[in-house]
Amino acid sequence: MSQGTLFIISAPSGAGKTSLVRELIESLDGIQVSVSHTTRAQREGEVDGVNYHFTDPATFEAMIERGEFFEHACVFGNYYGTSRRSVQTILDVGQDVILEIDWQGARQVREQMPEAVSIFILPPSREELERRLAGRGTDEHAVIAKRMQEAVSEMSHYAEYDYLVINDDFTTALEELQALVISRRLTRHNMQHRHAPLLAALLSREPGVE
Ligand code: GDP
Ligand code: ADP
Ligand code: 5GP
Repeated sequence: MSQGTLFIISAPSGAGKTSLVRELIESLDGIQVSVSHTTRAQREGEVDGVNYHFTDPATFEAMIERGEFFEHACVFGNYYGTSRRSVQTILDVGQDVILEIDWQGARQVREQMPEAVSIFILPPSREELERRLAGRGTDEHAVIAKRMQEAVSEMSHYAEYDYLVINDDFTTALEELQALVISRRLTRHNMQHRHAPLLAALLSREPGVE
């Protein structure tokens, strides 16, 4: 059975990761985002079970105890984690999976799945990152200031990733992400799995033909 590719996408908060990933999965078939669990407060417009599984700390800790997380980390003082089930259900149907996770989670995933493809999204400047964080209007001032500080430490991990995408012009960044997903699908390894009957038919020798 062919298994999809696991893509890890990280970025400092406000770089445009959520917007890019939303467009990416709308523009391509066969790729889904794993819905994370988090203990942070739900933002206006966010839907439980769609953007995140919003979870209280006690439940989250019980899930850690039971080993239900593929990876988990503390980001901005809240727990975030990817459950094993949310990834496996997507891989089992042969689709590609995107994990929108921080650098700590990315490390845990690479240890378990070295073949995962990791992408880091960067803003075009610090000023623009700050503008986007403030412009989103979903966080308090103090939260934005904290996220700006954390952004620099998140960005300091860029060298642990396979690919870097700079989200200056949105459409260009989206095309670059699409190119990464498509090129991964065209590797010989993946094509051999997906097109085994075609390859067998192309190479079969008719009796009597030299
Ligand atoms: P936003 O990125 O500014 O929209 O803020 P979020 O609250 O959605 O995400 C906060 C941080 O948590 C980001 O660095 C995410 O990459 C990270 N994060 C989200 N989900 C997960 C997860 O399932 N696991 C891990 N390890 N990190 C996560
Ligand atoms: P993240 O998930 O990385 O925190 P979001 O996707 O929520 O980021 O984007 C943060 C804000 O920046 C949003 O208001 C979004 O519309 C805006 N944004 C994203 N990409 C661009 C871009 N290329 N140019 C201008 N604004 C952008
Ligand atoms: P936000 O709270 O703004 O939605 O997300 C903040 C950060 O949490 C983002 O940078 C995001 O990548 C990270 N994050 C979201 N979900 C997960 C997750 O499941 N695991 C990890 N490790 N980080 C996550």
